[in-house]
Amino acid sequence: MEKGNKIYEGKAKILYDTDNADLIIQEFKDDATAFDATKKGTIKGKGVINNEISCAIFQLLESKGIPTHFVKKLSNRDMLVKRLKIVMVEVTIRNIAAGGLSKLLGIEEGIILKTPVLEYHYKDDLLHDPLINDYHIEILKLATPQEMKKIKDYSFSVNQIMKDFFDKANLKLVDFKLEFGTHKGKMLLGDEISPDTCRLWDKITNEKLDKDRFRRDLGRIEEAYQEVLKRIKT
Ligand code: 5GP
Repeated sequence: MEKGNKIYEGKAKILYDTDNADLIIQEFKDDATAFDATKKGTIKGKGVINNEISCAIFQLLESKGIPTHFVKKLSNRDMLVKRLKIVMVEVTIRNIAAGGLSKLLGIEEGIILKTPVLEYHYKDDLLHDPLINDYHIEILKLATPQEMKKIKDYSFSVNQIMKDFFDKANLKLVDFKLEFGTHKGKMLLGDEISPDTCRLWDKITNEKLDKDRFRRDLGRIEEAYQEVLKRIKT
C-alpha cells in the first residue's frame, strides 16, 4: 500500500491518503510536544517504538472484541488504519492519581483510586482541551448519547484488558487517553496507544516509563520507551 497525499500532520503523527478511500496510513514521528505544544523535542526512535506498541495493543483489543481502526502494520513507522470521522472528545481513564487529576482535585500523585475515573475532554487546542461532561457533549453535538454510551463501555473494557496486559509486563497502568471515530457508521477506537498516551510505572519501584520523562525533564527518555517495548514483548 503506497502513501498518497498528506492529509494532516499532527504533533506525533502524519496521516496519508491511500488508493483506497476507506483506508489511510498513519506515520509515527519522533517529535514530542507537551503543555499545549509550548515544549517541543525529539525522542530518538519513539515513532518506531510507538508504532510497534500500538500495533500490539490494537491487535490484543481486537482479539478481545473491541473494534479498532487498526488494519495492519506496514513498516517500522507506518500503520494502515480505517479512515475515521473523529469524535472530538478525548476519553481519559485513570486508575491511580497523577497529572491532570492531581492538579484538578488536589489528590496526591500515586494514590490508588477506589474505582477507575473516566473523564471527557473537548479536543480543541485553542481552548486547551477543557474537561467536559455529557451535557456539554450534547449541546456541542459532538456525539449522540447512544454513541457516548458505546464509547464509555468500550473505554472501561479497554482499561481492564490493558491493566491485565501491562501487569504481566510488570507495569502499572496509571492512566491513558483514547480517541474514537466512526467508520461506515460503526464506532471504532482510533489514534494510538503508547507511552505517549498512557502513564506507565514500574510495578515495584514506580519508576515512570512514559512521556512524563519528557514532560518533567526526568532524563533517560529513549530508554524508558525501549524498556516498555522490551517488557511487553517478553
Ligand atoms: P492528564 O490529563 O493527566 O494530563 O493526562 C491523562 C492521560 O492521558 C496521560 O496518560 C496522558 O499521557 C494522556 N493524555 C491526555 N491528553 C493527551 C494529549 O493531548 N496527548 C497525549 N499524547 N496524551 C494525552
